[in-house]
Amino acid sequence: MEHADAIVIGAGVLGCFAARALAAMDISVKVLEAREDACTGITRANSGIVYTGCDNKPGTLKAKMCVRANKNFDGLCRELGVRFRHCGSLMAAFGPRGEAVLKKKLRNGMESGVPGLKLLSREETLTLEPRLSERLTAALYAPDTGTVDPWELGLAAYENACDNNVRFLFGRTLLHMERTEKGFLLESSRESFLARTVVNCAGLSSDAVREMLEIPAVRIYPSAADYIVFDASLEGFVDHIIFHEPEERNGSCSGKGLTLVPTVDGSLLAGATERERASAPDGATSRQGLQEIARLCEEIVPSLPLSEQIRSFSALRPNPYHVEQKDGIWVPTDRPIHSFTLLQEDGLISLMGIKTPGLTCAAELGQAAAEMAGAFLGHPGRNSSFNPVRRAPVRLSGMDEAERAALVRLDPDYGEIVCRCGDVSRGEIRDAIRRGAKTLDGIKRRAGTGMGCCQGARCMKETLETLFRAQSLS
Ligand SMILES: Cc1cc2nc3c(=O)[nH]c(=O)nc-3n(C[C@H](O)[C@H](O)[C@H](O)COP(=O)(O)OP(=O)(O)OC[C@H]3O[C@@H](n4cnc5c(N)ncnc54)[C@H](O)[C@@H]3O)c2cc1C
Repeated sequence: MEHADAIVIGAGVLGCFAARALAAMDISVKVLEAREDACTGITRANSGIVYTGCDNKPGTLKAKMCVRANKNFDGLCRELGVRFRHCGSLMAAFGPRGEAVLKKKLRNGMESGVPGLKLLSREETLTLEPRLSERLTAALYAPDTGTVDPWELGLAAYENACDNNVRFLFGRTLLHMERTEKGFLLESSRESFLARTVVNCAGLSSDAVREMLEIPAVRIYPSAADYIVFDASLEGFVDHIIFHEPEERNGSCSGKGLTLVPTVDGSLLAGATERERASAPDGATSRQGLQEIARLCEEIVPSLPLSEQIRSFSALRPNPYHVEQKDGIWVPTDRPIHSFTLLQEDGLISLMGIKTPGLTCAAELGQAAAEMAGAFLGHPGRNSSFNPVRRAPVRLSGMDEAERAALVRLDPDYGEIVCRCGDVSRGEIRDAIRRGAKTLDGIKRRAGTGMGCCQGARCMKETLETLFRAQSLS
């Protein structure tokens, strides 16, 4: 039987940040994760936008956290060595309905203290983004919107938590949990654990984990989303994140409008649809969704070359609903939950179905969960050796010739380019493995291999060989 003061369930971005915040206290912390690596769930597939808070109702927990998180984001990324593109956003309207939405967001944002928001005329908007459709009528400019690579942020929190003595146990699915006199008894797919407090960050399964102890109150009914990724050759096609506020919210895929994100690695992300989960198997994209995104691109950014698509992917939204019992079964009420749901029930802390802007607020949500756990544990002292700084990985693609030459003199592996699309060297792949990558996907998410136009066709073999060599030596 393994013991810990606090056990976190789930190593998505929220579990990693909760673990990092718990590590700042003088307690022992373990994380149980069903998968082989951190940040492979919802954290892996989302829009990667750092929101300002103007989309949220003023005064709500979501609005307050989002405004604070946005203000702190530059500092957080510096501390964790994470790339953050502070590019600003334009929300474009195409008629009276959209313009009314922009005005409401402006009012909300101003009330919540979001700085720099400005309504722009059609001409002002087209001056900033000349490739947008001339049919637009106005836009809301938010200078503080930005974008991160979502798994880069989560993996940075994971590494920093590890550096501060948190123990992550992968391949452990929590199967059973009960309260005993000694604390929480947890049975995983491998071993048993005893914990004084449990922080449930199980994403899409956070309802199932909570229901191991409590009666249903909130359940998650996922819907799906599709995305298209365009090649980095389009870098600079748009400089801002573009939100499109459609004139018709007709409940179809286009009801959500188009979002375009110029990502930190130079590619362009287009999405995200809203569709029934059952319309395609989990993980698969839907033909209808991808066609809808392509149609919206033609409408909103007509000169975007659709032939530059390199990849598509799908995501699941963890929509939380209040539930009620009918004829002996629990069914969703017509009350979807819009705010963040954090529950503290006798030492079980649950972050339930955290949707947008959960990535933006990950550090704040992790801190809030850790404070709840700390209060339950009787306010333990601070961990005097806690270090919030994580050493960022070397990225050759961001270096000039002199910096590269100096690095190669130190380690010749950095002079051997394996992924030509992304300019990634063998040294970076080996560093990704040292930092915890166990699979091709783990290397891709850390070093950026296989992200470019060939999607790994040219570098996969060499990357795998490097991984096998490292694994056979360890
Ligand atoms: C389509 C989409 C777009 C989004 N876009 C944005 C955005 O642009 N900006 C923004 O701020 N937010 C955005 N979000 C929200 C943000 O992505 C999420 O709030 C965040 O990623 C949730 O992370 P998580 O850690 O809760 O979930 P996950 O990343 O899914 O992590 C949960 C983990 O728990 C593990 N787990 C589950 N059950 C068990 C068990 N029984 N035992 C052990 N482990 C278990 C899973 O394997 C998984 O690794 C978006 C969300 C979606 C769906």
